[in-house]
Amino acid sequence: MATETAFRCPQCGEIDAVRKVSAIYNNGFSTIPNDSPLVPYGVVDKTITTITSLAQKIAPPPEPKDPGGMNLGCLFLLFIVFLIASTTSWIFALGITITLAFLVNYFLFKPLQKEYKELKPEWDEAIRRWSELYYCSRDDCVFNPNTGESVPPERISALIY
Ligand SMILES: [Zn+2]
Repeated sequence: MATETAFRCPQCGEIDAVRKVSAIYNNGFSTIPNDSPLVPYGVVDKTITTITSLAQKIAPPPEPKDPGGMNLGCLFLLFIVFLIASTTSWIFALGITITLAFLVNYFLFKPLQKEYKELKPEWDEAIRRWSELYYCSRDDCVFNPNTGESVPPERISALIY
């Protein structure tokens, strides 16, 4: 599969200006020392991280966040509810807290988990496609060597999804 022709730019047909998108992205971050005399008011950080505008355009698709389950914040709120409700009776407080916990879990965390479980495989697939893409600096285009499709860097998502 990985023949030389696979890396030829579909627009100019050359290989000399072609680089892997993932490599450009990783090299797009550069760290420069932040102790130049141009920084007038003290040094906040020893370095400044910059990202090239090309690297920004060809960034990989963002990973969906795992929502997790009941978190500490949620448990804390339920505990507050329990404390407030326990001023009436502790059985009532226990009942309402358990009911609330069930409702929050069922209507908030279950749907979030479901959405995440659907998004994660899509993202895995998108990342896999993204890692196969190449960029030709002569034509300023991103292309998939397997399909020959090419788009400007701004429209990289067309080759990912
Ligand atoms: Zn080219």
